[in-house]
Amino acid sequence: MTATLIDGVKIARRLLDDLKPRIAALNARGIKPGLAAIVVGDNAASEIYVRNKMRACADVGMHSAVHRLPAGCSEADLTGLIESLNRDPAVHGVLLQLPLPAPLDAERVMRHIAGEKDVDGFSWKNLGALVAGEPQLAPCTPLGIMMMMDHEGLALEGATAVVVGRSVSVGKPAALMLIARGATVTVCTSKTRDLAKHTRDADIVVVAVGKPGVVTGDMLKPGATVFDVGINRLPDGRITGDVDFESASAVASRITPVPGGVGRMTVAALIANTVKAAEKTAG
Ligand code: NAP
Repeated sequence: MTATLIDGVKIARRLLDDLKPRIAALNARGIKPGLAAIVVGDNAASEIYVRNKMRACADVGMHSAVHRLPAGCSEADLTGLIESLNRDPAVHGVLLQLPLPAPLDAERVMRHIAGEKDVDGFSWKNLGALVAGEPQLAPCTPLGIMMMMDHEGLALEGATAVVVGRSVSVGKPAALMLIARGATVTVCTSKTRDLAKHTRDADIVVVAVGKPGVVTGDMLKPGATVFDVGINRLPDGRITGDVDFESASAVASRITPVPGGVGRMTVAALIANTVKAAEKTAG
């Protein structure tokens, strides 16, 4: 079998296009959805991620701004900026670009972002809503993956899904979203004894680990659909996912590429969350 590519670039573009009428409706009411990104220190990868997010805002006609603080800033400087953005009516989404330089504690700082402006979906309020089965602003990467699944028309009810990785930002919320849609979900971690035993059983495999080649073709059920979340830089500078693309695409029926897969959808989901936040504020 040779897998069909799930084209994140194309699906993200469609999603962003679909948002435009909603943005136009807000504009007609005098509201321009606005996203504020906070960048602390100098991190080349963060700069690329933020640039892509700002570009996507511009593409759909949304307002965006980047607020920069030096690496040596205090936690009070950072939380003070967050509080001022929480109060700013022109800002509907506040995004804290991670990682933060040491010794800043991202977990603690993020708790200052108002739940209704937490467009990354990492606040306890938004994560709790997800656990309760009443999602509000859901974490962008798993939200983007679910949007891809729907675009592909994947039947989730009754499907067997394996999520590899249990981070708060990707693995755990992805598992919760799949459970909410009626999939039977197994979550694997670094402690899982026999990863292949689990992945071989799955119709859908979501891999969010951060290690190239953690899932290979022989670990997949023929015809499985694979979502590769990983972004890894190889010694030669190339970017690769967590899944061994060559062997996996010989076994899977559908697979996301890296780059051009889940990453694009993460940005699109962020924009969707910001529009949703603006609509909620607007009533
Ligand atoms: P993370 O917080 O480091 O979590 C990694 C998870 O993988 C942990 O739960 C860990 O298990 C598990 N793990 C490690 N080795 C494993 C193994 N051999 N077998 C099974 N599980 C294993 O990472 P993350 O934030 O979720 O990110 C994962 C990857 O996705 C990274 O490459 C990141 O850059 C990428 N990412 C991409 C996007 C995107 O938009 N495409 C967004 C976010 C993240 P333990 O909990 O037991 O340690």
